[in-house]
Amino acid sequence: MESLETLSDPALARQSLEAVVELAGEFKKKFGRVPVLMEVCGSHTMAFAKSGLKTRLKDHVRLIAGPGCPVCVTDQKSIDAMIQLAEGSNRILCTFGDMMRVPGSRVSLMNSKTDGKDIRVIYSPLDSVKIAEENPDKEVILLGIGFETTIPILTLAIREAERKELKNYSVWMTTKLVEPVMRALLDSGEVKLDGFILPGHVSVVLGKKSFDFLVEDYQISGVITGFEPVQLLSGIYKLLELLLENKFDVLNDYPSVVKDEGNLTAQKLLKQYLRLHDEDWRGMGSIPGSGLVLKEEYAQFDAKKRYEVSVGEPRKTKCRCGEIIRGLINPESCVLFNKGCTPAHPIGPCMVSTEGTCAAHYQYMRGE
Ligand code: SF4
Repeated sequence: MESLETLSDPALARQSLEAVVELAGEFKKKFGRVPVLMEVCGSHTMAFAKSGLKTRLKDHVRLIAGPGCPVCVTDQKSIDAMIQLAEGSNRILCTFGDMMRVPGSRVSLMNSKTDGKDIRVIYSPLDSVKIAEENPDKEVILLGIGFETTIPILTLAIREAERKELKNYSVWMTTKLVEPVMRALLDSGEVKLDGFILPGHVSVVLGKKSFDFLVEDYQISGVITGFEPVQLLSGIYKLLELLLENKFDVLNDYPSVVKDEGNLTAQKLLKQYLRLHDEDWRGMGSIPGSGLVLKEEYAQFDAKKRYEVSVGEPRKTKCRCGEIIRGLINPESCVLFNKGCTPAHPIGPCMVSTEGTCAAHYQYMRGE
């Protein structure tokens, strides 16, 4: 496999791959089918595709991408609202780069920027605080999108704005939480899974314990893994071992950075500034308690309280991101994949985002 040559230890990767294939063979002999595993992290989706593992394993282990890309899971109405937000006068909108090219019902943030709106791509939420400080006569709004990995950094930005007593700064919170969406997927029964490859980055914040619900409430296993091919293969191997032994467990196969309790400082920040909120997800509707928004005492930093935005029902397209996020179809099942929809001319967020499943398939698995 060509891309395995880029590994720091390709020999170990090949050995690991052979071991996984052998164990998957035992699974097939025992259960008469290939195991089905889902990753719920966009970085894992990219890593599986980029390393060639998804292709190499396709006859042995079915790897499904779940709702792990923050841009992709943001529903269309929220995207339209953010674009409308940028159109108000005397505003500077700050966003991560991926959001710029996500198509709204009419235009994208990129189109709005071309039309003269002040939209700035930032690398850290703290950059947006600096922009607010440097532009006291403008209203600066940060688009706060992300999972538990990003949310603590959003609260740091709010803390900094609070410390600097900025009156012109707010965050449009559209955050998402992993556990509620995993529960929603499992409760729906739409997709039958044998186990989860659990998100390495989110687990750093939440800790291994936060995934115990998988065993306690659903009798399904998960393994927290890193992002190198050898680590991904190790995670799959451990899941297969559990499946063959008919055991349910949550394993931490990324102990160098993930602790049982997670990052307590980050968790404290979340508790201090935020409260649970019912969030809308692309393709999944509203999921109770699946997002975090600012508590009432921080309302001055809550852009949703400061600015009125009213958008209608989003324009319907043939984009099937909603089904891809739920693990129901592959990008190749979308009639627009590599036809009307490419990274140069994306129709949906899964083709725009650097963690999107359609982008991963387009870049690394096209024609396979
Ligand atoms: Fe949407 Fe494009 Fe993916 Fe189809 S290929 S699901 S249009 S992003």
